[in-house]
Amino acid sequence: MKIKSADFVMSNSDVAKCPNEPLPEYAFIGRSNVGKSSLINMLTERKSLAKTSGRPGKTQLINHFKINGNWFLVDLPGYGYARVSKRDKKTFQKYITDYFLKREQLVSAFVLVDIRHSPQNIDMEFMEYLGGNMVPFSIVFTKADKLKPAIIEKNVANYLKELTAGAWEEAPNHFVTSSSKNIGRDELLIYIDEINEQ
Ligand code: GDP
Repeated sequence: MKIKSADFVMSNSDVAKCPNEPLPEYAFIGRSNVGKSSLINMLTERKSLAKTSGRPGKTQLINHFKINGNWFLVDLPGYGYARVSKRDKKTFQKYITDYFLKREQLVSAFVLVDIRHSPQNIDMEFMEYLGGNMVPFSIVFTKADKLKPAIIEKNVANYLKELTAGAWEEAPNHFVTSSSKNIGRDELLIYIDEINEQ
């Protein structure tokens, strides 16, 4: 897919106020520092698209970008736990869970994880949350330039193995990417393109 246009549309924290155009939407999410802004900028070939909406205060918002006039790329804030009771029951921030439960235009989520790390509880719980609510998602491994190919293969295999040892019968679709080396861009865009054309 050639990116002809990538325009910032709006930021807000209320899913009811997100754009009401019925365009297919793809959401990017992960822990902060995982490389989400860099990935969005690589995909769109814009140096600071994600950062421009990420001016102070904007990082905790749902950011919509319209791509080629026919789909939305959504930059979601890094997730963390929100405490909901004194008994230390944890849940994800409400506006993030609301987005996944209510956003009808959402086609698929991309959950970003750093390829150097073994599965972290919060990422596993978040993927379980998505799966449990029937939200389609893929895993995007980031920062692949930091490791040698053999280690990448090993880490991906371990990650998927750990995931399928838990609640998953089948490993989710996954992509290996590096924003600094432009790895994985074509695969991700072709995947989105193919779904959009169905
Ligand atoms: P965000 O908080 O998830 O939006 O993460 P950023 O995109 O701001 O990146 C966090 C840090 O990781 C920055 O220092 C980036 O330069 C670095 N980074 C992001 N992507 C890559 C990558 O593909 N390779 C390497 N080596 N560093 C990366």
